Amino acid sequence: MTGTPLFERMALIGIGLIGSSLAQAARERGLVGEIAISTRSPETLRRAEELNLGDIYCLDAAVAVEDADLVILCVPVGANEAVAKWIAPALKKGAILTDVGSTKGSVMEQVNPHVPDGVHFIPGHPIAGTEQSGPDAGFASLFDQRWCILTPPAGVNEQALEKLAAFWRGCGSDVDQMDAKHHDLVLAIVSHLPHLIAYNIVGTADDLETVTKSEVIKYSASGFRDFTRLAASDPTMWRDVCLNNRDAILEMLSRFSEDLSAMQRAIRWGDGEMLFDLFTRTRGIRRSIIEAGQETDAPDFGRHAKD
Ligand code: NAP
Repeated sequence: MTGTPLFERMALIGIGLIGSSLAQAARERGLVGEIAISTRSPETLRRAEELNLGDIYCLDAAVAVEDADLVILCVPVGANEAVAKWIAPALKKGAILTDVGSTKGSVMEQVNPHVPDGVHFIPGHPIAGTEQSGPDAGFASLFDQRWCILTPPAGVNEQALEKLAAFWRGCGSDVDQMDAKHHDLVLAIVSHLPHLIAYNIVGTADDLETVTKSEVIKYSASGFRDFTRLAASDPTMWRDVCLNNRDAILEMLSRFSEDLSAMQRAIRWGDGEMLFDLFTRTRGIRRSIIEAGQETDAPDFGRHAKD
C-alpha cells in the first residue's frame, strides 16, 4: 500500500507472536505512520527494539498509547482488564481501541467498563497463529488469507468499524463480524476443543511408563506428532482461554465426550459401519478446508514455511 497511512500512530501493548506480526505487517504495507511498543518485561522490550519492530519503546503502557489513534492489546486475555485500567486515562479522544484475544465475551466484560467516552472500543480476533511465542516468532505474512473476526458492541461508530476493518484487510485478512457470544461458541469448537484434546492426548502419553514413552517419540510420525504441535502452544495463553471461555468450552467438551462414548461403543460391538461412515464424513471436512484455502493438501503438516 502507498500513500497516506490509515493511522498516524499505532500503539501495541504486548509484543509477542501477534504483536510482532502486526508491527511487521503494518510497517511493510504502509498502514501506520509510527509504531509505539510497550510490553511488561525489559527483556522483551529490548528484543523488540533489536528486531526494529517499532519507533517508540516504553515499559509504561500509558505513555505508549498517548497520541495513538489505534491501540491494540496483544496480551493474554487474562491480562486485558489490568492493561485497560492502566491505559484508559491516557487514551486519545477519537482513538480506536481493539485487541486480538482468543475469547471475546470476557474482553467485552473486562475492558468495556474502563473505556473512556469518545474512544471507540471494537474487539477483534485474528484467526491466525502458530505454536510459537515472543517477538522473534512474528512474521509479516501471518494474517494473509486468514480471517479476522470483529465483535463490535451495539451502537458502534460505523466509521471507526470500517477503518479497523480496512486495517485488517491491509494486513492481508478477510474480515467477518459477529457478536461476542457467538464468536466464543464457534471458537470453542474450531480452536479451543482441538487444543484441549491435544493437551490431553500428549499428557496421557507423557504419563506412560518410560520405555513406552521413548517409543511414543520414536514412532510419533504415525499421528501423535500432529497433536504435539497444538500441545506446544503457550501455556499462559491457553490457561487464560480456558478460564475466559468456560461455558462454551464445557458445552463442547460434553458433546465431545458423548461422541467419544458412541465411538467406544462402536469399537466394542464391532460396528464397522458406524466407524466407516464417521471416518468418511470427517475426510470430507478436511477436503472443504483445503478448498476454502485454509490449508494445503501438501503432505506432512501441510503448512507453508515462514519464508
Ligand atoms: P505471546 O507471544 O506469548 O506474547 C504475549 C505478550 O503479552 C508479551 O509481550 C508479554 O510480555 C505480554 N504479557 C504476558 N503476560 C502479561 C501480563 N500478565 N500483563 C501484561 N502483559 C503480559 O502471545 P501471543 O501469541 O502474541 O498472544 C497474544 C494474544 O493474541 C492473546 O490474547 C492470544 O489469545 C491472542 N491470539 C494468539 C494466537 C496464537 O496463535 N498465538 C492467535 C490469535 C490470537 P513480556 O514478554 O514482556 O512478559
